[in-house]
Amino acid sequence: MRFVRFDPDRIGVLDEAGIHDVTAAVPEPWRSSRYAMNHLVERFDSLRPQIERLAADSQAIPVHSVRLRPPVPVPLQVLAAPNNNRAHTAEMRSSGLAVSPGSKDAPPTPRSIGWFLKAPGSIVGPGDAIELPDMPGRRFDHEGELAVVIGRAARNVAEADALSHVFGYTGLIDVTLRTDGEHREERPMRKSYHSFTPVGPTLVTADELPDPAAVGIRLWNNEELRQDGSTGDLIVGVAELISLASRVLTLQPGDLYTTGSPAGVGPIRPGDAVTLEIDRVGRMTLPVRTRDW
Ligand code: MN
Repeated sequence: MRFVRFDPDRIGVLDEAGIHDVTAAVPEPWRSSRYAMNHLVERFDSLRPQIERLAADSQAIPVHSVRLRPPVPVPLQVLAAPNNNRAHTAEMRSSGLAVSPGSKDAPPTPRSIGWFLKAPGSIVGPGDAIELPDMPGRRFDHEGELAVVIGRAARNVAEADALSHVFGYTGLIDVTLRTDGEHREERPMRKSYHSFTPVGPTLVTADELPDPAAVGIRLWNNEELRQDGSTGDLIVGVAELISLASRVLTLQPGDLYTTGSPAGVGPIRPGDAVTLEIDRVGRMTLPVRTRDW
């Protein structure tokens, strides 16, 4: 099943015909709240028959006639894997963009240094824009990533059980303000400016991507294909990421864990348009603008 959210605050199931509005499957008071999708994810097993009935009985709405919103607008937590792709790690070190450029030490991975947080308040959707703050001389990069959506709460789970805690997957652009010789802001802030976490376009249930280690990820800036990778290139795979994080805290239904970028990260500037395409999840294009505040 492929879920979307669309204006005004509706939840839909996407198929070849279009979007089927299944909002009514979510009981009040959650249905009318921004947490409707968190509730749907948490109670999916019991809500599923009603979701399927509504999807079968409703007229399809053309995708192009709606404004798509982020499928999970308010996860409690957005975890993010740093340096989780061999080729990307190499490009960061050789380009001098890594925190320890040129170091001879073994590169850090999520196995050694864990994860960082992106603020949920930085999430926007497929129908929005990436808005860059006016910071002359600073570089902003795209990182196209597959993000896991947690289904069942996960606390201290074994790697072998971890995938049973996954509800599904979505796309995430981890927009990043780079450090440079003069500037060393904390990573969570550099990655949490307003609109620096575009999510979507769909949330696909885990059965749609049965092998999370074989998911293609492509990203274009304008017409230029910048990233063309696969989750097969991850250093630490989805199950191990979840298991390791669940030893630190409890992952909650609806939480996002973005798995890390393939090689090919590059700068974006106002006037660009960034397109992320992930197998089954689909494709979204966001214009890049200068922030007006
Ligand atoms: Mn990233």
